[in-house]
Amino acid sequence: MPNKQPHIIVLGAGMAGILAGIRLQAMGYKNVRLYEKADRVGGTWRENTYPGLTCDVPSHFYTYSFERNPDWTRHLPPGPEIQAYFERTALKYGIDKLTRFGEECSAADYRDGRWHLQFKSGLKDSADILIAATGVLHHPKYPSIPGADQFRGALFHSARWDHTVALEGKRIGVVGNGSTGVQIISALAGTAAQLEHYQRTPQWIMPVENGHFSEQERAAFKDPAVLAHAMNVEEYMASVEAYTQSITDLESDASKAMAQACRDNLEQSVADPALREQLRPDHLPLCKRLVFSPNYYQAIQHPQSQLVTTGIEKIEAEGIRTADGTLHELDVIVYATGFHADSFMRPMAMTGRNGVQLSEFWQDRPKAYLAVTMPEFPNLFMLNGPNGPVGNFSLIDIAEHQWGYVERLMARLDVDDCSEIVPSMAAMNAFEAERVEAAKHTVWYRGGCVSWYLDAEGIPSSWPWNFQRFVDCMAEPDWDAFNLPAPATAE
Ligand code: NAP
Repeated sequence: MPNKQPHIIVLGAGMAGILAGIRLQAMGYKNVRLYEKADRVGGTWRENTYPGLTCDVPSHFYTYSFERNPDWTRHLPPGPEIQAYFERTALKYGIDKLTRFGEECSAADYRDGRWHLQFKSGLKDSADILIAATGVLHHPKYPSIPGADQFRGALFHSARWDHTVALEGKRIGVVGNGSTGVQIISALAGTAAQLEHYQRTPQWIMPVENGHFSEQERAAFKDPAVLAHAMNVEEYMASVEAYTQSITDLESDASKAMAQACRDNLEQSVADPALREQLRPDHLPLCKRLVFSPNYYQAIQHPQSQLVTTGIEKIEAEGIRTADGTLHELDVIVYATGFHADSFMRPMAMTGRNGVQLSEFWQDRPKAYLAVTMPEFPNLFMLNGPNGPVGNFSLIDIAEHQWGYVERLMARLDVDDCSEIVPSMAAMNAFEAERVEAAKHTVWYRGGCVSWYLDAEGIPSSWPWNFQRFVDCMAEPDWDAFNLPAPATAE
């Protein structure tokens, strides 16, 4: 039980905000409030409802460690099941009662040792501790294609799916072939009268199985021991390590094996040599976030599907005109064109100690000491903030490790002589210099592609080391970085 009862505000009731709310209550904090801009929990899984929405992390690893889900129906979790999981977990742990929905924070200022928050509705609140769980990929990126407003059919972004539009028997164009575009094409192939996939840059596709769990399996998984055995955590963690190794060491066996699996998939799955070459990327596998798919190559070879590799010139009333002069007549256009990945808490205006603005602090690129705290922004803790690990593994696991670190930092605030937890600028700068240097050795930088992993200067913004290093960094704060002595209990 804490000695003090600070007022704690969590911004966002997605996966990370729900986690913070659950853990804060378990720690004994009584003055906890979550604010959520939407009308229900779920974050990215609430906002994305496109056909085929799936997470490419194995289902049983895409849960909180303390709240496993025996009921997943498939090996990869379908989006609606993920949203349902977060909704019932939030309900079970009383998160709904702690949350004020429909409240979007527009500004947060640190004054007189507290965070003062202003909401768009006019509401104000203040907190001793602020936790930003505002998500990463939540500001849709719309391409600037001339004539989009002239289109007579339906046009929407994948994260703003218009479910009033019937798709069956329609002529549909999907722009973009990241994980989202690939999942949409895979889901719609065979139902649309005509399905066109607009590909600007080919992507490597990693094959993956996505079978169903049988009723017997799901019943058996209700026994935690059976589920733990089936999950085989060691094997999964080895695959995460192999993944991070292939990112950070291009010469590693792991890197070569993953690249070969992608190449074999293309060779073995696409029959027509011309189509195969159109689908073949000229960058290294893993340079862009790897797309996992059990059936994209089948979907794009469906008789009603067509891969369009000629550039888009403009959109007209009847459809998309490509640079070769062809008009592709369409009823529906979907922008699967991704997100502004560098927004994080923004457009919220944040002002830290000494009037330091977040917009200035992040002028060159979003940055944070070990991805969780920032100099001049005391008692502000970020979950899934800038520079953390991202990739083809569970962000829930990342958030849980970060939360463990936040708990250790918060424990210091519970001690009488400590009122501010804030890393030094020297610690921040040293971390950032080392991170940027390491980032230049990753496949994201050296793999010959452009992706949302890169910042405005072309430097990968994510954690550029292996997963174990992240786990070790989160296990115990380096108190020197916070200009604090090591806590007595740790000695
Ligand atoms: P994305 O990976 O950023 O891909 C955007 C796509 O749109 C790219 O193919 C891009 O082409 C294309 N594009 C953008 N602007 C364009 C334009 N003006 N003209 C033509 N093409 C254009 O976006 P995403 O697929 O939505 O995925 C974003 C992230 O969400 C993923 O990387 C992943 O982290 C997450 N996600 C995860 C899952 C999962 O299974 N876990 C599923 C979906 C999404 P270029 O490559 O040429 O830029």
